[in-house]
Amino acid sequence: MSEDESFDAIVIGAGVIGAAVAFELGKRGWSTLNVDKLPSSGYGSTSNSCAIVRAHYSTFDGVAMAYEGFSYWKDWPNYLEADDERGLALYHQCGTLLFMVEGGHHEKVRPLFDEIGVPYEVWDTDVLAERFPFFEHGVHGEPSRPEDDRFWEEPEGEVMGVIFTPDSGYVSDPQLATHNLQRAAEAQGGVFRFNTEVVDVRRNGNRVAGIDLDDGTRVDAPVVVNVAGPHSFVINKMAGVYDSMNIKTKALRHEVHHVPSPPGIDYERDGIHTSDADLAIYIRPESGNNILIGSEDPACDPQVWVEDPDDYDNQVSDAQWNAQVLRLARRMPSLGVPPDKKGVVDLYDVSDDWIPIYDRTDLDGFYVAIGSSGNQFKNAPVAGHCMAELIDAVEGGHDHDTDPVRVTGVYTGLEMDMGFYSRNREINENSSFSVNG
Ligand SMILES: Cc1cc2nc3c(=O)[nH]c(=O)nc-3n(C[C@H](O)[C@H](O)[C@H](O)COP(=O)(O)OP(=O)(O)OC[C@H]3O[C@@H](n4cnc5c(N)ncnc54)[C@H](O)[C@@H]3O)c2cc1C
Repeated sequence: MSEDESFDAIVIGAGVIGAAVAFELGKRGWSTLNVDKLPSSGYGSTSNSCAIVRAHYSTFDGVAMAYEGFSYWKDWPNYLEADDERGLALYHQCGTLLFMVEGGHHEKVRPLFDEIGVPYEVWDTDVLAERFPFFEHGVHGEPSRPEDDRFWEEPEGEVMGVIFTPDSGYVSDPQLATHNLQRAAEAQGGVFRFNTEVVDVRRNGNRVAGIDLDDGTRVDAPVVVNVAGPHSFVINKMAGVYDSMNIKTKALRHEVHHVPSPPGIDYERDGIHTSDADLAIYIRPESGNNILIGSEDPACDPQVWVEDPDDYDNQVSDAQWNAQVLRLARRMPSLGVPPDKKGVVDLYDVSDDWIPIYDRTDLDGFYVAIGSSGNQFKNAPVAGHCMAELIDAVEGGHDHDTDPVRVTGVYTGLEMDMGFYSRNREINENSSFSVNG
């Protein structure tokens, strides 16, 4: 690329959301450049995503966007309108079980499913036992850690059952899904540049002017979109917009563990995604006949905020491995606890209320798709669509701050109010303040 080349829009980051933003802008006729300091698309936090696609969020807008997202994954080859020499990512529609306990997340979710029309079934524990006999049904109380004696107490009573959503599932290879989006964006004329770091966001008065790269290249564009994942706050500071935003983002270390299925169970083939509010874990099938275990961020677990997203401990820890694997062993008594720890560690880009920021900023032409809070892989194509609509509208003169853009879902026809994702919102107290959004 020659020096001083210019584009209609520069996207900082080539993760799943950055690639989707470029594809959607490209479809609307924008020339785009994605810049990423890593060697390929989807190598940032997307690479370690559990890539679970489910709709149980705490808010109307959260559920609506996720429900719209289901269709993108089911329709992936058509949606992309392009081939990828590496093949296309697969959507495993295994379904989801949301465990129901007194005061649990389902109390918020079920009325929202009804209002929005998300298909679901309610199963009592008899149906659960028939369909998935390996789950124990006890209520273990306020989540605790194995270091706490309370963790080992006998359960009191049984869960009320589960909410089964048949359309949800997971994407087997989040990096490949991102590469698919890269190829789709390129087919629209988009350009991707890797192994190069954005070191400055330039402005001309109150308008963004472009970026400077670490190799000395300057690239001009009237629109720059920050989709830098856990580095989002670094880029916002670079652009001088950090202080002017009411909602901030920061990087949170997160561990995910993989354990072999219990003897006689092929969880990779026959398993299901579960969200267990009682034990504060989620699980899904994982390749190699493993079970993937993630945390739903209970208050008893220490939060490790990371000041420098390029420098954090990316090794699975003994303490968190024990906590998550033993929690699952309570729900699945036949699970063995293997001596060797296996899993991944990466960073969430967490907003103050665990709801993303999809918005413009006070610097004209500078946009953000950030704060994905461990729960926006599933929404990446929807977010790309919404960001492109928002950018198109604002650049066309629409005052999004006083009259928030509303975007109609391509598949469901649901209306998504982009004001919900505003940088200047008050903290949304309806949020779960966890990965459940
Ligand atoms: C462990 C884990 C599990 C998760 N599980 C789920 C799940 O089950 N379901 C779900 O929906 N979501 C999940 N998520 C969240 C989801 O993966 C993220 O929301 C999503 O991948 C974010 O994509 P992104 O494109 O915004 O960011 P990223 O993939 O992090 O991409 C940002 C890119 O910006 C680049 N960059 C940063 N700074 C610069 C710079 N200065 N110059 C150039 N490039 C730069 C980085 O190199 C990176 O590639 C999970 C996340 C993690 C970490």
